[in-house]
Amino acid sequence: MPELPEVETVCRDLRSCGLIGKPITQATVLWDRTIQNSTTETFCHSVQGKRIIDIRRRGKYIHILLSDSLHVFIHLRMTGSLSLVSSEMGIGQYDRVIITFNESSLRFSDPRKFGRIMLCDSQTSIYDKLGPDPFDPLLTTDVWFERLHGRQMRIKPLLLDQSFLAGLGNIYADESLFSASIHPCRPAHSLSRDESAVLLESIRHILTTAIIHRGTSLGDGKGNFTSNGDRGENISNLRVYGKSTRPCPKCSTPIQRIVVGQRGTHYCPNCQK
Ligand SMILES: [Zn+2]
Repeated sequence: MPELPEVETVCRDLRSCGLIGKPITQATVLWDRTIQNSTTETFCHSVQGKRIIDIRRRGKYIHILLSDSLHVFIHLRMTGSLSLVSSEMGIGQYDRVIITFNESSLRFSDPRKFGRIMLCDSQTSIYDKLGPDPFDPLLTTDVWFERLHGRQMRIKPLLLDQSFLAGLGNIYADESLFSASIHPCRPAHSLSRDESAVLLESIRHILTTAIIHRGTSLGDGKGNFTSNGDRGENISNLRVYGKSTRPCPKCSTPIQRIVVGQRGTHYCPNCQK
């Protein structure tokens, strides 16, 4: 599932395509349930004629600001992807929503149909449900420590809770905890001030590296993340995720896979205390 670096890569690609400023000439919905919070008719009617003002990311959401204070939020979930193609190109097998500009169209393709698109009058309806973005400058080491300090939950599932911190998924939570040498089952409130600061720094470093490498593509790429047809190249930077039984890159102890909060979790039993 795309996490923050993969969604950030999609947003950067969309901005670099020159979408900002373009007016939407038509919207077509091919799978009604992709539109989460309004009818297909309302969605298509509302966005038609609007201009794209900006494309941002918040957590794992793509946030498209339209003229007249409309906001479109896209969550790719498992297999959603966006591509900008000629508006004359035929409809693809997995295309669920098509947003057409004059000569080009933005296709939301989603083989497994879990992806969702929401139309909102304000950004708060989504932003208010989300915790801070890891790169939010207001998320200082002091604020972060206080947030962790009040929570009994184990640190790994807490990092995946989007209302606590928006953007991390399984890959980057495991990688961040390894980088910070923190055991995934530690209760969040047990982290010292120093440990919590190292964890925040690790999260930012791991995510920044992944963004530079355009995210992580796994397997054959078809059911995973690609952007603009390019595979993300961050897989070579992973140190524990998907590496069970292989030697820890710090101490050579075999990496273990355990289940924490119903999620496969990879860690080094020697380095992560
Ligand atoms: Zn180790």
